[in-house]
Amino acid sequence: MTSKSPSASPEFSVREFFARFPNDDACLAHIMEVRFGGTRFVCASCGKESTHHKLAARRTYVCANCGHHVNPTANTILHDTRTPLVSWFYAMYLFCTTRHGVSGKELQRQLGVTYKTAYRIGQHIRDLMSKAQGFDALLAGHIELDEAYVGGRRSGGKRGRGAPGKTIVMGLAERNGRMKAVVIPNVKADTLREVVLKNVEKGATVSTDELYSYGLLTGDGFKHGRVKHGAKEYAYYNYRAGETFHVNTVEGFWKLFKASVRSTHIQISGKHMQRYLDEFTFRASNRGRVNGMFDLLVGAL
Ligand SMILES: [Zn+2]
Repeated sequence: MTSKSPSASPEFSVREFFARFPNDDACLAHIMEVRFGGTRFVCASCGKESTHHKLAARRTYVCANCGHHVNPTANTILHDTRTPLVSWFYAMYLFCTTRHGVSGKELQRQLGVTYKTAYRIGQHIRDLMSKAQGFDALLAGHIELDEAYVGGRRSGGKRGRGAPGKTIVMGLAERNGRMKAVVIPNVKADTLREVVLKNVEKGATVSTDELYSYGLLTGDGFKHGRVKHGAKEYAYYNYRAGETFHVNTVEGFWKLFKASVRSTHIQISGKHMQRYLDEFTFRASNRGRVNGMFDLLVGAL
């Protein structure tokens, strides 16, 4: 049911991608654009504003005035890579346009590299996604919170909440806005409260399920509403607050995340979980803006 190939985006199609980035020179020019604003800028060596020309067959630009070398990929993950820049760019494109994530196998097939190289490229791009996300910014407005249990044993063992090897994760979503997700050690009241204090702006409205007891957040100035999932209650409107409390956005996110883990990644250990969460929340936060996502990734290099 899940398609593993990237969906053609009306905003940035595969055809458009290859028209924009036909070769490594085009990728390099784009990195120059993002890092230096183009090829004409104040040279770090001679201090004069001058044009920089690309050296043939090298990933290097040269100052027309003094001959100073500029390597656009210096201090980035693209430096010293033998994989063509176009392959890296195309991998980033795939990560921006997919819905269910990109497995190592899929990257291997699309880029024509070894599985080891494909896996490494994938992990680097997930790191870029977490870097590009701006995690320091607090979530504001109306925020939904919902926890989930992911990963762990696929068969043979006991399934469900307490199953061995499962990682506990907490999702936080602004209504119609940004998203974050973090690995948490347990669901104790102090742990939950800490997640909110660390990620949500003071005074914001927070929707949770009954895991968050009343009084846990209101003491810190949050407006708090709970849905009682145990009682099959999924949303309610509070007249006094003028808010509808529910956690459907985050629940939808966990549904997609779990299905994707099942269909593409087979197993994610707790150690790597945060990377995958960052990948999926990056896409959720920037949904519908493939071009914007792609430029954020290049900017995070
Ligand atoms: Zn110079």
